[in-house]
Amino acid sequence: MNVVPSGGVERLSGWGRTSPVWCSVSDVAGAEGVRSVVSAVGARGVVARGVGRSYGDAAQNSGGDVVRLTGDGIALDPESGVVRVDAGVTLDALLRVVVPKGWFVPVTPGTRFVTVGGAIAADVHGKNHHRDGSFGGSVRSMDVVLASGEQVTVSPSSDADLFWATVGGMGLTGVIVAASVQLIPVTSSRMLVSTRRFDGLDALMASMVERDAAFRYSVAWVDATVSGRRLGRGVVTWGEHASPTDLSGRAASDPLGYAPSQRIGVPGVVGSVGVVRRWNAAAFSEAWFRNAPVRRDGEVQSIPAFFHPLDGVANWNRVYGRRGFVQYQFVVPDESADTVRAVLERVVASRPADFLNVLKRFGPAGEGMLSFPMPGWTLTLDLPVVDGLNPLLHELDDLVLGAGGRVYLAKDAQTTPSMIAASYPRLNEWRTVRDRVDPNRVFHSDLARRLEL
Ligand SMILES: Cc1cc2nc3c(=O)[nH]c(=O)nc-3n(C[C@H](O)[C@H](O)[C@H](O)COP(=O)(O)OP(=O)(O)OC[C@H]3O[C@@H](n4cnc5c(N)ncnc54)[C@H](O)[C@@H]3O)c2cc1C
Repeated sequence: MNVVPSGGVERLSGWGRTSPVWCSVSDVAGAEGVRSVVSAVGARGVVARGVGRSYGDAAQNSGGDVVRLTGDGIALDPESGVVRVDAGVTLDALLRVVVPKGWFVPVTPGTRFVTVGGAIAADVHGKNHHRDGSFGGSVRSMDVVLASGEQVTVSPSSDADLFWATVGGMGLTGVIVAASVQLIPVTSSRMLVSTRRFDGLDALMASMVERDAAFRYSVAWVDATVSGRRLGRGVVTWGEHASPTDLSGRAASDPLGYAPSQRIGVPGVVGSVGVVRRWNAAAFSEAWFRNAPVRRDGEVQSIPAFFHPLDGVANWNRVYGRRGFVQYQFVVPDESADTVRAVLERVVASRPADFLNVLKRFGPAGEGMLSFPMPGWTLTLDLPVVDGLNPLLHELDDLVLGAGGRVYLAKDAQTTPSMIAASYPRLNEWRTVRDRVDPNRVFHSDLARRLEL
C-alpha cells in the first residue's frame, strides 16, 4: 500500500509505467535546495530524480521524498572540451550547446532526454561502449551532497571509493549536483553509417565480432518474433562521426549545425488502451527487417537519427497501454554468447508482443562498483506487461545468472535481491562505502527497498 505524504505530492513511475507511486517531490536548483530537503527528510528517506527515463522504480520513493534537479548551468572550456554542468541538465540541452562548438558527449544512451545526474548514477552506456566504455569513465569530478548535508567534490583521485560508488550507484550514496565531464571533439554534426542485414543470429553476431573494432559506434536490432533458422535475424548499424568532406549540400555549408526538431506525441487515449499486440509486433518487425538495406555504406545521418530515433516520438512508452512494459536488459560474458540465443528462443516461444530488441557488444568494464557493463553481449527486450510475464522474467534471470551475467538496475522492475547479490560481485564493497556516507539510509528508493541494496 502506498503511503501518501503531505507536500508537493506527485504520482511518479519509471519510463515503463509499471508501478506508479505517490511521492513528495521538491524541485531544487542546486546544493542549497538539496540540503534543505535532506535535513528535513522523513522515515522513508529521499532519492534524486532526473527526468525519469529509468524504466523501473529507481527514481521513485513510495511515500517518501524525491528531489528533482532543475539547475541549468553549462560552462564549456572550448580548449580542453571539459564541460562543467549542473546535474539536472539533460544531454539534449548539453548537445545543443556543445555540438555547434565542435564537441560531443562521450557517451549517449538511446535517448538524449536523460540528465547528467541520471547518466552518472546509472553509469549509462551507448553504442560506443566497446571503444569508449561507459559515461562514468569521462567524469573528471563531481559535487555530491551527502546524507549529512555536507557537499563534497569527488574524483578518481579524491575519495575514489565514493566516486566509484556514486558512478552507477543509482542515487543511493548522495545527490550529484554538478559534474565536470570530458567531451569528445567532432568536426561535424553528422554520422557516417554502414548497415548490414542478416537472416539469422549467428551471422549477425559474427559480423559484430568482426567489424566492431573498425567503428566507434555499433548496435543491432534483432527480431524476436520469428523462430527456427530466422531466429534473431536483424540489422546491424555501425557509425563514425562524419568529417566536413563527407558532407554535401546544406550540411556541407554548416557542418556543425545542430537543431533537433520538436517531437510528435502519442495521444493519451492510446496510453489507456495500448496499441502493441502480438500480431502488429510481428508485422512491424517484418516491415522493419524488409525495409533495411541488405548492405549500405557511407550513408550520412543526423545525430538524432543515428543515436536517438525514438526521441522523435514523445511519450512513445504509452503504446504499451495502461499496464506498461518492462525493459529486460541483461549482459553475459563472451563465453556465454549462446545465452543470447537461449533467451530469444524463450521469448519467442512465450510470444509476448515484443519488437524493440537491441543487441550490443560491450568492451571492458569500468570501475563503478555497481556498474552494469562487463565484456560480452547485452540484449535489451521491451516486453509489455501481460499475465504470466513475471514467471518468464524469472526464468530469464536464471538463464542469465547461470551464464555469469546480470541485469541492468536502470531498467529493472522485477528481479530479486538474490539475483543482484549473486551477479554484482562488488555489491558488498559498494555497501561499505554507502554505509560510511549514509549509515542511517537517508537515501532510499523503491528499487533499493525491493532489491535490499
Ligand atoms: C528510450 C530510452 C533509451 C535508453 N537507452 C539507454 C542506453 O542505450 N544505455 C543506457 O545505459 N541506458 C539507457 N536508457 C536508460 C537511461 O539512460 C537511464 O535510466 C538514465 O539513468 C536516465 O536518466 P534520468 O535523468 O532520466 O534519471 P532518472 O531515471 O530520473 O533516475 C535514474 C537513477 O539516477 C539517479 N539520479 C538521477 N539524478 C541524480 C542525481 N542528480 N544525483 C544522484 N542520483 C541521481 C536516480 O536516483 C535513479 O536511481 C534508456 C532509456 C530510455 C527511456
